[in-house]
Parts: sequence; structure tokens; C-alpha cells
Amino acid sequence: MNAPASSPLKGAVPRDATPWHHLPTAEVLTRLRTTTSGLSTADATARRATAGVNALEEAGATSRWVLLGRQFTSLIIWVLIVAGGVSLVIGEWLDGGIILAVVVLNAVIGFLQEDSAERSLQALRRMTAPKVKVHRDGAVVSLPTADLVPGDVVELEAGDLVPADLRLIVASSLTCGEAALTGESEAVTKQADTLWPVDADLGDRDNSAFMSTVVNTGSGQGVVVATGMGSEIGRIAGLLSGAVGGDETPLQRQLTVFGRLLVWLSLGTVLLLFGLGLLRGLGVLDLFMTSVSLAVAAVPEGLPAVVTLALALGVKRMARRRALVRRLPAVETLGSCTVICTDKTGTLTRGEMTVRALWTAAGAATVSGEGYAPAGEIRAASGDVTPAQTKDLLITFVGCTNAHVAQEGGVWTAIGDPTEAALLVVGTKGGVDLAAVDKQTPRVAELPFDSQRKLMTVIRQTAAGPLAMVKGAPDVLLERCTHLLTTEGERAMSAPDRERILAAAAEMAARALRVLGAARRPLAGDRPQPDSPEQVERDLVFVGLCGMQDPPRPEAKLAIATCRAAGIRVVMITGDHPATARAIADELGLSNADSVVLSGHELLSMDDATLKATVPRVAVFARTTAEHKLRIVRAWKANGAVVAMTGDGVNDAPAIKGADIGVAMGRNGTEVTKAAADLVITDDDFTTIVAAVEEGRGIYDNIRKTIAYLLAGNVGELLLMAVCVVVGMPLPLLPVHLLWINLVTDGIPALCLASDPIDRAVMSQPPRPAGASLVNRRFLLLTLGTGLLTALVAFAVFWYALQHEGLETARTHAFAVLVFAELLRSFGARSDTRFIWEIGLGTNLRLLAVVVGSIALQIASHHVDWLGHLLRTSAMPLMDCFILLAIGAIPLVVLEFSKIWLRRTAAKP
Ligand code: ATP
Repeated sequence: MNAPASSPLKGAVPRDATPWHHLPTAEVLTRLRTTTSGLSTADATARRATAGVNALEEAGATSRWVLLGRQFTSLIIWVLIVAGGVSLVIGEWLDGGIILAVVVLNAVIGFLQEDSAERSLQALRRMTAPKVKVHRDGAVVSLPTADLVPGDVVELEAGDLVPADLRLIVASSLTCGEAALTGESEAVTKQADTLWPVDADLGDRDNSAFMSTVVNTGSGQGVVVATGMGSEIGRIAGLLSGAVGGDETPLQRQLTVFGRLLVWLSLGTVLLLFGLGLLRGLGVLDLFMTSVSLAVAAVPEGLPAVVTLALALGVKRMARRRALVRRLPAVETLGSCTVICTDKTGTLTRGEMTVRALWTAAGAATVSGEGYAPAGEIRAASGDVTPAQTKDLLITFVGCTNAHVAQEGGVWTAIGDPTEAALLVVGTKGGVDLAAVDKQTPRVAELPFDSQRKLMTVIRQTAAGPLAMVKGAPDVLLERCTHLLTTEGERAMSAPDRERILAAAAEMAARALRVLGAARRPLAGDRPQPDSPEQVERDLVFVGLCGMQDPPRPEAKLAIATCRAAGIRVVMITGDHPATARAIADELGLSNADSVVLSGHELLSMDDATLKATVPRVAVFARTTAEHKLRIVRAWKANGAVVAMTGDGVNDAPAIKGADIGVAMGRNGTEVTKAAADLVITDDDFTTIVAAVEEGRGIYDNIRKTIAYLLAGNVGELLLMAVCVVVGMPLPLLPVHLLWINLVTDGIPALCLASDPIDRAVMSQPPRPAGASLVNRRFLLLTLGTGLLTALVAFAVFWYALQHEGLETARTHAFAVLVFAELLRSFGARSDTRFIWEIGLGTNLRLLAVVVGSIALQIASHHVDWLGHLLRTSAMPLMDCFILLAIGAIPLVVLEFSKIWLRRTAAKP
């Protein structure tokens, strides 16, 4: 981070110039030609031309040339090219031309598939790109981190990733985790006004914050001094591999190994057939061409491509359903997820708060009105609640907030924390306005809310000196209170007082209300030190309580029921009170008579073994902190579960990393949490997580059925040819036939299967066992059985026609029946258990069109001369075509009948 002598705008700067950490902020701002209100958009755009994009160079993206080149790396393609070449040399123009055309077509299809997969991953990368709060044109806006330029002024808060190298202008309780840069695991406390010697170590420069490090606590403001590869991390990082979508999934790895095995198996068989054919005295050249085509037809080289395509399409579909996948393997893991641990507020509930009840020592009051509209009134419900007493309570609540309420499109909405917005609204209903509170008691300092402490304090200057206004979880707050505010003024709090307050809070919680307490304390001395919560949040005077409604999302109840049917446990993990959490869980149908609510406190007293034994009975974890989440994940995993865990705060990152599927909240989640997650839910809604699980299962299903379909086809062709060579019959299929079947009859329907709409039945089955192999006994049985059946049907037709009509017609018949059988079978291949009419042909119109079109083309080849010449088929009456079509339907019919048996065994894979 050095100030360049000549141009202050370059992303990368020479090492020997004046270091920014050595200069006062005013000087830094002047040199960067900026102010604390940041740059204008025009200036930033101009600077970007010089400074470049604020990103570390990635090795992730693959260029189109590389993709195209990749289509010519397989052995089989080269065998085909040689075969095509040989055909041309010996004057077999048609065969040679067709083979080479197949090579080109194969490459084009492969390229298009991979290119579309690559592009959807890139789009996803853009969608999950981190954002930053930056001052532009005098206002704070949220922009992609990549847009930052030197001179920009950015805001930092807990959970942010530091977006570039910054010289800090303001730092309030700001600490950063810099392990990524310096290896130092301890957080570094930052200050804005220190100056450091020119050669100070990175770890010592506490007036600076560095790109890619993490804001652990507090908030701050800084001016960008270096971006992208010019930043400190850029210097040491060199090339970083892209985080999104870069990994191979376990299934892809499994299939690469399986595919390789099949390649050798098929090549072995083909060689054996070649040898046998030679012994039987078949023509060498014919045999060579047939063997090459057979190898091409039999070798399932397209398997990994099918997986990539199905994954990429699925990921795109998930994005449309507001679930962004950050790591591809998560898609597969989602399919075997057995436990979803989810937040409550905003995820299972709407996150729209309305205060319904108030409590003070004088009695209770109810609040009317809906949402964030300031219309409604406060009425005494019990006791003698004086307006003055509610006023004290409301001032404390309103004075201790950061949110705003505004009308957007005619609707009153919360800007900032909904809990705090609800407090502002009840304040207005009771005649307490934030602007007035700010005017009478200016704000001096703040101890921000964190879910660990469950408290928040704002210090305000009153005529009598500074006053701490504290609000937070009542149980936590009460522990810090020594006095109670009553109608007669403050008095020492007695044990019965405490019980009364706790009972009032419990009563509100049992009504599913989220309860907050308020307290205050005059602070001695003129300038309080707000750095230490322990010093400020003690010996407090308890003022009162409020209970706010946060209704469950209606669709969450349905999603929870879906999970139950799908064999997935849903567990609520919340920072809220056990009684509130229980009440919401009951409303959502999350708990039953046997399930228990465990508090963070109780969890702490358990060792890992006890926790492991306990978690299966727990429906709700309440009053939890981030560390508890990690223990819960581990306990479930120790029970063999595949766990999805949601989180939003910076402290949730370890649990998110520890879970099998880490889910970050897109709206309220911090950048750090998102960076740690496998999946980002853009609407923070539980239903979206369930949708993602459904997609995950669907994608796996599509991959499995496409592979089964392709392999069964390959087995059929190989067996048919093998049987004929072994029994000494002429070859039933010509090279052109084999290539045609491979490309058209198998290849195109396979693509349609890979993009099949998700079967609704996926969520009525239990989760797939984790790590289960795709190629299990059932899969092999089905694939080999179908292949054998297809070969048998084609062989019977060939044999019959050979007896009665001669070789040319027999070949035409065998070819046609195989084509029909393969095409028709694709309808049945869409599900293992559901019959064709249950799925409906109209649900995959692309497949229907491909099958109808291909059948029509096949029939046309028996009637149109040039087509027949191309496909080496002879003329055939239409009636014969239909008879062959009916025979070709036999494998499909048998497959459909076998579903009766498959259905019965479906529950035990
Ligand atoms: P979830 O973890 O399901 O989102 P949550 O939002 O209730 O649940 P936290 O945000 O950790 O969890 O809140 C825990 C408790 O802290 C709440 O029950 C409430 O009493 C208190 N609380 C919440 N927000 C604030 C706030 N802004 N200021 C003070 N106290 C708060």
C-alpha cells in the first residue's frame, strides 16, 4: 500500500513510494483527490479506466477455444477421424463423409453443451459477487466490489469482507480477522488516527484494512488506496482459483472412473469381436469399419458431459427459484440432505414485526394497528399504566435504535432491523418520535447489538449527563439490572419483582411474541468509554418490556410438511426465547408431543456424547449463539445425518463451513457468511431451501436416468452385434447405422432426459443415502436387462428377415426396429416407478418432438431415395414400418410392466 509518486490512481503501485499508513488521513484524501463524501460516478468511471477492475485474477474461467479443443481429446474421436480418413482414401466417399460429419457434429454438440454450462456458472458467479457500501455522488450506495477505484470511500461493518486496501478514516470498535493475509489468527483492533513508520509490518498497520480480510466486530469508514492485483493480497496471491463452481462433484468423479472402466470394457469386447470376425473370414476392411463404429457406439464417453449439462441446467433452475449455488458439489449433497437446521426470524417467520404488548411495573398495555403504519393506539390492559410510564419505556426503546420506517409505494416498510423498526412504530403510536428524542438527547455513542450478548446500548447526552439506554433479551437484561422504575421512581429490585417481570415475559412469549426488555443508567463522568459493554451494561434500572408479533410464513408450514413427507427433519435454531420459539414451532407443525426445546444454556452443560444422543429429540434450539450452531451440526453429523445449516451473521461462518450444505441468507446475510456458504438463498425464505433440496434430488434423478438410458442403449447394440458374430451370422448393422443410433437415437433424447422437468414424486421419497453409489445392483440389473431385451427384439427381427427376405432387408429391419425401440424407450426412462401416463407426454415437449421427428425421419428413409441412400436403408411398405414400430415398442412395454415390481422395491434402494 504505497502512495505512488506520479499517478495516485493506478491499482498497482511501486513499493518504494510513501506508504499510506505513514500519512494522516487528510493527506491521504488530498493525494487521492477525494473527500470523506467519496467520488462522483463520473470520476469513478474515469478512474476505473486507469485502475482496472477491483478483483484478484482468477484461473477459473475456461475460454471457448479450450472448450472446443477439449472435444477432440478423447481416443474414440481420433479412432473415428482415422476411420473416416481411411474410408476416403479407399474411395468410400459416403462412409468417410458420414463418419467425419459425425465427428464434427459430436464436437459441436459437446461444445454447445459445455459452453452453456460454463456460461450459466459465470452468470452465477456474477450473481453471488460480493457487494460493498460506498459513497458515490454524496450518497451511500451498494455496488459490486469489483467497481471500486482508489479514492472511493467505503463503509465497513461486522461481517463484511474488506473490499480493497483501505486507509481508515473512522474506526469504532473495529476489529479485523487478517489470517488470510498475515496468518495471524487473533483479530486486530483498528484505529483511524495512528501513524506508522514507513517500514511497519502489515500486521502492525492498524490504521489500514486489507482486501479479503474480514470485519469481525464494530464499524468503520475507509478510503480505497489500492485495488485488485495492486492490493497487498493481490501481490502475494498471484493467481487464485475461482471459488464458484470450480469443484468437481463426487458424482462427476465417480462417473469419470466408471466411464473409464466402461471404455476399456467396450474396447476389449470390440477387439474380441474383431478377432472372432477375422477367424470367421469376414472382410478385414468391413470388420475394421464396423469395429470402429461399434467402439464409438458402445463407449459411453459422453457421461461426464451429461452430468455437467444436468448440473448446469439444474443450477440455472435453482437460481430462478432464488437459490444460488456457490459450489457445484452442494447440488448433489442437497439431494441426500436429511436434516435442515434453520433460523427462525425472517426465515420461518415473515420478519415483519408489530409490537402488540407493553409491560411496565405499573401494569400491562395492548397495542393496536397493523404492520409498520404509524396508526394505532396503546390501551391499558391491566393495572394502572400511566402515559408517563409508557413514555419512559418508549423513549428508551426508540432512543436505542438504528432503523427507519418509510413509505415505499404507499406501504409503510422497515429500513434496517425490523425489530427496531417495530419499536419506532410503537413509539409514534405513543407520541414518542425519534427526531424529538435525538434533539433532546443527542446520541453520543453506541454498543451495537450482537446475537452473542443479545443486548444493545445507545448512550445519549441528557441535561443531567450521559445516559445509557439499553434494550435486549429480557432474561439477559434482567441479570444486569439492580433497580426497577416504578410510578414512584426508581427502587432496588426485589426477588418478587424479578419473578413478576420474568412471568410477564413468559406470558408474552407463550403467545408467540418476541420479547424485548428496556433499561437505562445514568453514566458517571463526562465522556463515557463505550468500548466495554461490561462497564456500561451493569447496575441498570429496568424500565419495562414489549412483545412483538412476527407471524410465521404461511408457506413455511407447507414446506415443513413437504420435508416430513420427504424424510427430512427440520430443526429450528434461534436466538429467541424458548417459549416464543416453541409457540412458533407449534404453529408451523414443527414439533410434536415428544419433541423438546433445548436452550443454549442447557446445551452448554452437555458433553458431545450427551448432545449426540439428545439432538434427534430436539425440535427447537432457543437462546443459542453461533458456537452452539457448530456443536449442533457436529452432533447431527455424528448421528450420520447430512445437515444443511442456515446462517446470516459473521459468527455463523464456522457452522456453515462445518455443515454438509452451508446456506447463507442473501438479504440479511453478511458477506463473510455468503463467502463460506455453498448455497445463497436470495429471499431468506425457508421455502426456498426446500425448493433447492427438491431441485437437488431432481438433478440427481435426471443424471441417473440419462446415464441408465444411454448405457442400456449401448449394451443393446453391443450385444446384438456380438451375438451375430459369435453365431456366425452376417453383421446386422452397418457403421452408418451404429453412428446414427449413437448420435440421433440415443444422443438427442438423452439430452432431453438430462433436462427433464423435476418429477413431483421426488419429495415423497426418503433421501438418497449419503455417498451411495449411482451404479448399484438395481441400476445394473435395469440397464443390463433393458439392453438385453432390446438386443433380443432386434436379433429376432434380423433373424426372421434374413430367413425370408435376404440380408439387405434384414439389415433395414434390424436398424429400424432398434431405432424405434430406443426412441420409444426414452418415454419410459423418465421414471423408474411412474408409468408413462402418470408423468404425461406433454411434460417434456422437447422429448416428444425429438421422438416423433426421429420416427418420422426413419420412416421417410424407407420412402425417400436420397435419405435411404444416406442411411443405407431399403424401401419398405408403410405397413411394415408400423409392424416394426409395434415390435420396437416391446422393450418399452416390458419396462412399464417392470415398474409394478420396481414400485414395490422403490422404498429399499
Ligand atoms: P434467529 O436466530 O432465528 O434469527 P433471532 O433473530 O430472534 O432468531 P437474535 O437476533 O440472536 O435471534 O436475537 C436474540 C434476542 O435478542 C431476541 O430474542 C431479542 O430479545 C434480542 N434482540 C433481537 N434484536 C435486538 C436488537 N436489535 N436490539 C436488542 N435486542 C435484540
